[in-house]
Amino acid sequence: MTSETTRAPQVRPRTEGWTQRKDAAGRPLLQFASPRRGKPPAHLADLTPEQRVEKVTELGLPAFRAAQLEKHFFVHCTHDPAEMTDLPAAGRDELVHTLLPPLLTEVRRLETDRGDTVKFLWKLHDGALVESVLMRYPGRITLCVSSQAGCGMNCPFCATGQAGLTRNMSAAEIVAQVVRANRVIADGQLGDPRKVGHAGERVSNIVFMGMGEPLANYARVMQAVRVMTDKKHGMGMSARGITVSTVGLVPAIRKLSDEGIPVTFALSLHAPDDELRDEMIPVNSRWKVDEALDAAREYFEKTGRRVSIEYALIKDMNDHGWRADLLADKLNARGRGWVHVNPIPLNPTPGSVWTASEKPVQEEFVRRLEAHGIPTTIRDTRGKDIDGACGQLVATESDQQAAAATPVEA
Ligand code: SAH
Repeated sequence: MTSETTRAPQVRPRTEGWTQRKDAAGRPLLQFASPRRGKPPAHLADLTPEQRVEKVTELGLPAFRAAQLEKHFFVHCTHDPAEMTDLPAAGRDELVHTLLPPLLTEVRRLETDRGDTVKFLWKLHDGALVESVLMRYPGRITLCVSSQAGCGMNCPFCATGQAGLTRNMSAAEIVAQVVRANRVIADGQLGDPRKVGHAGERVSNIVFMGMGEPLANYARVMQAVRVMTDKKHGMGMSARGITVSTVGLVPAIRKLSDEGIPVTFALSLHAPDDELRDEMIPVNSRWKVDEALDAAREYFEKTGRRVSIEYALIKDMNDHGWRADLLADKLNARGRGWVHVNPIPLNPTPGSVWTASEKPVQEEFVRRLEAHGIPTTIRDTRGKDIDGACGQLVATESDQQAAAATPVEA
């Protein structure tokens, strides 16, 4: 160890202003199973293309009605029977209500970056609240989607985990976030319509970095990804443009590697040593740093897709130069060219005593990784002023920041 190790302070993760939930053994509570709540209404997007045909046949209709409904919802982004004039008027309302029930009620919309970043608060059928964040960049439009209401992973630096897991979202609820965002874009409501917006513009990239741990809701997240990527029966998006981010559920990472859908995979590592990661990421008690990195490497081997390592830079906690070196060593020990690192300066969350690393420390962290040959890009996080940045999504109806930002009438 260098003298720097002894000089640099080590802040330990602790919580202030809120109490982290603990299990019977006094460890941070982990919730893998979704609490049972009333099921969201069944929806076309929950079904496979074959099941959709079965369903319309059951309703006594010709099979091609399924394809018409798919087009209306996934391509024209509507669930309004009045817009579906190619369906016979008799029974139309009932058919649409059965297969395309409304799933998300817009509660609030906040904008920043001159309208290029929009955060939506949605209410689900049972009153559960989730958020998604839509971001326009030059040449792409990214939607950050939620996969669960709340989150059971209990990471102390992330606002979403503080209230625990409310429930898993259905595949259709996940997909509906994209459909609604596409509708907003089509209606010219993302950014200045004079400077942007060619006809047919839509979400090009999805990041599963909203509320929830996507791999703890595996089957529904995968169904949603299938719908997003299906060219004939879904939204026809590129799998490469979809990023699935996980805190490190190793068996689920393995499963994902075998799906044959080349999504971009991101591992939220945040510390290269178990001593610190045990405290920052409670799930590290199940799967250690080395196991998570092995699974990430396997993902690369099976899919050929370069993986991302997410690393929130927190002042004096995980931003030490020696940790950058250790991270690089662990990545290089598993080969070259398979991974890149995305440091994210910590976004403030309520009750958190931690702050983002200072600029020169961030730069030194990046410099060291690069010196070891690890491609590294500091991630630009959007929407801090509307609590819409990574780790800030809590979905309460009375956001502290709401008054400061621009609310948009739904
Ligand atoms: N549960 C998944 C996805 C949701 S979080 C996961 O953990 O990967 C999306 C990203 O934001 C993760 O990398 C997460 O660690 C990071 N994050 C959480 N809280 C943050 C904060 N306060 N500041 C910056 N990034 C944060």
